[in-house]
Formats: sequence, structure tokens, C-alpha cells
Amino acid sequence: MSEAVATQTPSPKDAVVRCDACPVLCRIRPGKAGACDRYANVEGVLTRVDPLVITEKAAAKGESVIPFLSGSEG
Ligand code: SF4
Repeated sequence: MSEAVATQTPSPKDAVVRCDACPVLCRIRPGKAGACDRYANVEGVLTRVDPLVITEKAAAKGESVIPFLSGSEG
């Protein structure tokens, strides 16, 4: 699915972009991220953002996170 994102034609920088990477089909305003925080609207381009943002946000809020499977780093 990320390949489809990479080939998307850039929109005007102030345009809402639509993510079709999952059935939620978020419409993302400029400078904002979709519901999952995996994709964001960066100057009119749907951009995959750091997947660790989710765990970083949880850790910042003091919420618990479940460790990744041991040995799955690479
Ligand atoms: S931003 Fe995330 S939740 Fe929204 S459509 Fe894309 S993959 Fe689905």
C-alpha cells in the first residue's frame, strides 16, 4: 500500500488529502495526521510518518505499551 502512496500526485499545499491505505479513508487537513497517525498531510502530499509516533505518544502520556516481539528488530 505504501507504493500507491508514493506515486500519488501532489495536491496544492493547502489541500485536504485522502488516504486510501485502509477502509477508514481519512481526509487529512494540511499539517495533520490521519486517525492512525501513520500518514499525514505534509504540504499537500500524503506522507507515511514514523510508526513509532504512536508508542512515543503513549509513553509521553504515561500509558502502558506492550513490547515488540523479541528478536523482531530487523
Ligand atoms: S490515515 Fe490511517 S486510519 Fe486514515 S485511512 Fe490512512 S491508514 Fe487508514
